[in-house]
Amino acid sequence: MRDYISELNDRQKEAVLHKDGPIMIVAGAGSGKTKVLTTRIAHLLAQGVDAFNILALTFTNKAAKEMKERVEKILGNTNARNLYIGTFHSVFARVLRGEAYRLGYPSNFTIYDTDDAKGVLKTVINELNLDDKHYKPNTVYNRISQAKNSLVGPVEYANDYAIQQEDMRSNRPAIAQIYDAYAKRCFKNGAMDFDDLLIKMYELLKNFPDALHKFQHKFKYIMIDEYQDTNPAQYEIIKLLGAAHENVCVVGDDAQSIYSFRGATIENILQFQKDYDDVKVVKLEQNYRSTQSILNVANEVIRNNKGQIPKNLWTDNATGEKIRLVRLMTDNEEGKFVADTIQEQRLRNHYNNRDFAILYRTNSQSRAFEESLRRMGIPYTMYGGISFYQRKEIKDFVAYLRIIVNPRDEESLKRIINYPARGIGKTTIDRAVLAANENNIYLWEVFERAREFGFKAGTLEAIENFVLMIRSFASMQEKHNAYDLASHVGKQTNLVKELFNDKSTEGVARYENIQELLNSIKEFTERPDDDGVLETDTKGLGNYLQQITLLTDADEKDPNADTVKLMTIHAAKGLEFSCVFAAGLEEMLFPNAMAINTREELEEERRLFYVVITRAKQRLWITYANTRYRFGNLVQNEPSRFIEEIPSEYLDRSFAGGGLRNQSPGGPSGSAYDRMHGGGFGSASQAEKRYGPPPAKKDSRPSYIPPKPAAKSIEHVPSPDFVASDTSG
Ligand code: ATP
Ligand code: MG
Repeated sequence: MRDYISELNDRQKEAVLHKDGPIMIVAGAGSGKTKVLTTRIAHLLAQGVDAFNILALTFTNKAAKEMKERVEKILGNTNARNLYIGTFHSVFARVLRGEAYRLGYPSNFTIYDTDDAKGVLKTVINELNLDDKHYKPNTVYNRISQAKNSLVGPVEYANDYAIQQEDMRSNRPAIAQIYDAYAKRCFKNGAMDFDDLLIKMYELLKNFPDALHKFQHKFKYIMIDEYQDTNPAQYEIIKLLGAAHENVCVVGDDAQSIYSFRGATIENILQFQKDYDDVKVVKLEQNYRSTQSILNVANEVIRNNKGQIPKNLWTDNATGEKIRLVRLMTDNEEGKFVADTIQEQRLRNHYNNRDFAILYRTNSQSRAFEESLRRMGIPYTMYGGISFYQRKEIKDFVAYLRIIVNPRDEESLKRIINYPARGIGKTTIDRAVLAANENNIYLWEVFERAREFGFKAGTLEAIENFVLMIRSFASMQEKHNAYDLASHVGKQTNLVKELFNDKSTEGVARYENIQELLNSIKEFTERPDDDGVLETDTKGLGNYLQQITLLTDADEKDPNADTVKLMTIHAAKGLEFSCVFAAGLEEMLFPNAMAINTREELEEERRLFYVVITRAKQRLWITYANTRYRFGNLVQNEPSRFIEEIPSEYLDRSFAGGGLRNQSPGGPSGSAYDRMHGGGFGSASQAEKRYGPPPAKKDSRPSYIPPKPAAKSIEHVPSPDFVASDTSG
């Protein structure tokens, strides 16, 4: 066993050696918070604590996996597999599988991703005879999600005066009604959306004392990374779970709180000390990640925020190079500059591709980088953006798999009942839905008992064949793994053949996507390590479906692939790279037009800037463009106000791309303060004129990284649906 303790500084040791009782580590970026957490787990195991009794919650599945690997590395051959390490969502999904019956859900409940949820909302909105142009599923979804993350159920929602006033003001008084109908529909479908995984976990612990007792004693040691981004629901769950043993260790950095729009609150950090009698508080101040130059800039920037816990972050590392600030004419030149620089740095300083990350505010910015990286033949991996699993053909195929596991899932059933076409038309489906509602049974039951509902002979036969087919698939579940079953489904339903016969460009792409899906299922069944899934039958369809639904933005197939990484800053939380490009530092983009109307919003944008700076270990470039296309229009940009917050002695502006040497970044419109208070073009209406509608805020939809070798991905042309999308970050 490695002497892992001697690797730590004194404060870190203190945190690791503290075994029982609540402990909070609040510390700046790169100070070893995650390292302490990992070492603490290893130390608990080394002291004989049973792996089954340790719960660790991380921000991404990837972080969880890394943590397990690091623990295994420290301890040699210990069985870290039994640890409950994962994201809140994946760990709670795992717990809920076993306990769902108490809440009236089937144990094989479906997990709806954000897209599925919006589909259900649309159905419900239409059923209530409301206009889905006014009650946009996206808007309603965000509203409901916000409520759920604050543990406000449909009844509380309808009875909350302030909430009702707000909905009246936005002229959407029926959201309460929609929320109620939506919750009932999901329940009926035997499905939980992402937020439900938290809410139901909370309800389980709150309403079933024996379940609470069971999990309080199972999870004797609880550890939470990135605590600053927990929302009220997560906070309450931790509080309940930790109440018996009080061995709760949280680590976080208030300066990196970047999810307040999802209900995360920095109050959680302050409240932690009040929740327990005797909280040990450890501060870490030495940064091990970055050069002094990078850290100086980070410290200067974050100083402009009013609300924060004072910290004194320093480093022993070398001074390093100055931060390079580069102004480009256009977003395409920005892309070219970054690709050129990567090429040059690889040669000059012997970096690998994997040492570089290009980080941006919204997903739509990736296009210019992808193009130039492709042109230069530099392999890359992109995270987020249009998710593989949001593609129609994939959703159709996955709907079959879902129905096999959970026939109650009405949304999936409606999706495939007549796909490929089998003569069950819209009228029939509408009638069946009506029959289900009238008789208070599941849609699937209507099809199972089709004879009772007077369908025409031809339709009846089609329905009965469909039911028989699904039943035969379902009966294969026990004996076959996910891959065998999925390829059988592909053949029997003619889905694969149908796509194969479509020789249009789109058809070929769709066929390839299905092949890719099957590849990834095969990979799942052959993968030796089975993270975050049930103990029994781990290679079955149910686990596969859960796993793909719970992928998050930062998860990836092969973390060691030698590729440049492209992702939003949100997705880069907790990660580090030798070289970082912080791209698109322009007013309205970063800070984003959506987030400049209050001090709180602006401070959150600044924390994002702090996060991106502190991802860099050795070299940092900050780039911005004079003009860029946004939402189809060419727009002019001023440099981000955040640039002005960096003292010029820390910047190297002599290095400029696009033939523009020695350009000053200073904007023409006075100080940042002026602009913030209407002196520049900070007002929303002007912003909208110039930029069109603001991008949607980042949603919680995890996205899928197609399991392709990245080098291959450079041959692909960006798909049209990606270019048009701005799911934002
Ligand atoms: P973030 O706030 O970005 O999540 P963090 O506080 O979690 O950062 P870590 O990721 O744990 O920081 O550590 C940052 C880097 O510093 C890692 O590469 C880690 O291995 C290294 N590190 C941490 N502590 C030490 C130490 N005592 N000696 C040497 N390296 C260390
Ligand atoms: Mg960390």
